Amino acid sequence: MTLSVPGRLPTALTVAAAALLTGGTVAWAAPAPATPRAAAAAPDIPVANVKAHLARLQSIATANGGNRAHGRSGNKASLDYVKSKLDAAGFATSVQQFTSSGRTGYNLVADWPGGDTGHVVMTGAHLDSVSAGPGINDDGSGSAATLETALAVSRTGYHPAKHLRFAWWGAEELGMVGSRTYVNGLSAADRSKITAYLNFDMIGSPNPGYFVYDDDPALEKTFQDYFTGLGIATEPETEGDGRSDHAPFKNAGIPVGGLFSGADYIKTAAQATKWGGTSGRAFDRCYHQACDTSANIDDTALDHDSDAVAYAVWTLSS
Ligand SMILES: [Zn+2]
Repeated sequence: MTLSVPGRLPTALTVAAAALLTGGTVAWAAPAPATPRAAAAAPDIPVANVKAHLARLQSIATANGGNRAHGRSGNKASLDYVKSKLDAAGFATSVQQFTSSGRTGYNLVADWPGGDTGHVVMTGAHLDSVSAGPGINDDGSGSAATLETALAVSRTGYHPAKHLRFAWWGAEELGMVGSRTYVNGLSAADRSKITAYLNFDMIGSPNPGYFVYDDDPALEKTFQDYFTGLGIATEPETEGDGRSDHAPFKNAGIPVGGLFSGADYIKTAAQATKWGGTSGRAFDRCYHQACDTSANIDDTALDHDSDAVAYAVWTLSS
């Protein structure tokens, strides 16, 4: 998709200058007609950039006992990495601390300055892994795509009509502790300002499926439209119902949407025909295991889903 360039319209100054050059008198120079607000096209998200974030999360896990789990050093190091990128890109970041199972956890929230703060489009992923492994698909993939989308907002100088907020949750693997803490801490007024919460938890599964959250029809359609444009058939997401950070938002009455490429459910023959990959095998055989490393990623799924994250963020906020 390319950015559409609106037709060049004469400004008041050029109209006046033309009148002067032709010897006419200018009693009144019409103000420049307002250029109609064109919806900005979402940028393509470079999958190499998303993979660079995954490589960094992998090296953080490797240097911190093999995981990025709640209460472990790799979790805080992951947060510091993401926060430093966002701070350098001009986001207003804040860290919300909480305690779960006797250990400190963190939510990272990043606001992009501008836009109507009465209408917030929020995008999130969980930054903690299980303690068994580095959690690169679960949920390094969603964390990295969300980060790269936020960085693309900065890189392109995007001025959305709505306000953009991004979040990286702590302690999802302990029962969505971080996202519940965040939602519970919002006033009723602040909850009502969030017009959409988009969740990305596992979007690079090695034997991937293309599942779209079916919780909200308008948000579901936004993602379906993107994949229709790619010629990829999607299915409603059912495996993760209530099992990720969108659940606290949905329970608070906030419209939720998102993508999922599959965990330990088995790919059917029909799904393999539709999406490729191997039937009779889990979408992610390394789900919650030590082998959920940077080798446990399907680049094509990660690429398409990362682009879909940006498409939804741009489409819903412009
Ligand atoms: Zn997860």
